[in-house]
Amino acid sequence: MNGARNLNSRINRLEQTLGTLPCNCPDSADLAWPGHQPNPHCASCGGKRLIYPLANHPRSAEPPIRQALPIIEKAFGTDQRADLSTLTNQELRQLKTALQTVEQATTYKRTPIADGDSR
Ligand SMILES: [Zn+2]
Repeated sequence: MNGARNLNSRINRLEQTLGTLPCNCPDSADLAWPGHQPNPHCASCGGKRLIYPLANHPRSAEPPIRQALPIIEKAFGTDQRADLSTLTNQELRQLKTALQTVEQATTYKRTPIADGDSR
């Protein structure tokens, strides 16, 4: 057994794990939507950020969903799979309200007539 080599591979593994962990900066989470893909790496520390993808532009619901980002971050933790059991009832309510607001803001149709299709 090669002790130094073993140690090196353990350090490599640790570095990889650390590289995939979101940082703890205030800038460590952001939203993405079609046409808007923020930098997955934190500009402050180089750490990985949690990018929460939305199906549509949040429009008027952007402020409430941004306020809920710390809750989303807490729920998703480090393995990119939501664990809602880590949230308090109040956090769950706030997250649910924010996501519903996004849904309402993005499914609301201003006009039933489709935009001019110039073919
Ligand atoms: Zn950071």
